[in-house]
Amino acid sequence: MTSTLSTARSLVAGAGRIVALTGAGISTDSGIPDFRGPQGLWTRDPGAEKMSNLQAYRSSREVRERTWQARLVHPGWDAVPNAAHYALERLSPTHIVTQNIDRLHQKAGSPPEQVLELHGTMFESVCLSCDDHRDMWSTLERVRAGEADPPCLMCGGILKSATVSFGQHLDQDLLRAARAAVSSGDLLLVAGSSLSVQPAASLVSVASRAGADVVICNGSETPYDSMATAVVRGPLAESLPALVRSRN
Ligand SMILES: [Zn+2]
Repeated sequence: MTSTLSTARSLVAGAGRIVALTGAGISTDSGIPDFRGPQGLWTRDPGAEKMSNLQAYRSSREVRERTWQARLVHPGWDAVPNAAHYALERLSPTHIVTQNIDRLHQKAGSPPEQVLELHGTMFESVCLSCDDHRDMWSTLERVRAGEADPPCLMCGGILKSATVSFGQHLDQDLLRAARAAVSSGDLLLVAGSSLSVQPAASLVSVASRAGADVVICNGSETPYDSMATAVVRGPLAESLPALVRSRN
């Protein structure tokens, strides 16, 4: 393992098929806080972690009402992509597997079919009973109009954002697609993921077993650094554009 940008640059420059895996660290420069970092949501407000727990959400109307209020003011609504998202768009990997729910890759111009939203999206609501999906804005309009915990319009069930909460399984088809994408790449570029959440983090092992090089760009250490061909520290808004330029 090396820790130099120049090694990572030559790997990216020479790779055939590149697959990206992105996490919260790529969106912090767009004003969306991560969860467990020093300024993280759960570090500053332990109650917020409970809002992310599916069992608490199902069983407590109070948790749901607080969560709807938090959704109204989520920084993701106004966030715009930063230099790291645009760099990945220019890199044009075969797939971007993302743990983020903020759609900033698509806003930066990456084709939607290229982006695998492993943890879902905040831009849709879903019914926990009948799986009815709606545009989140239309559901939030109901909250603004006074419904503190709006029920499903189809069946009266509990609605939540179409994101994966703790205690909730990932979409298995999506996970299979992500594993297939990672296995077919020559290089996995990890950007802004602390690789602490499974099964997303295990995609690094999948890539490594398939013989792909792994380049990890993250602000802090990850449990997979020893598996990487190269590790790059420092701000992603600087390192990713530098990596992508090496390919042009
Ligand atoms: Zn329903």
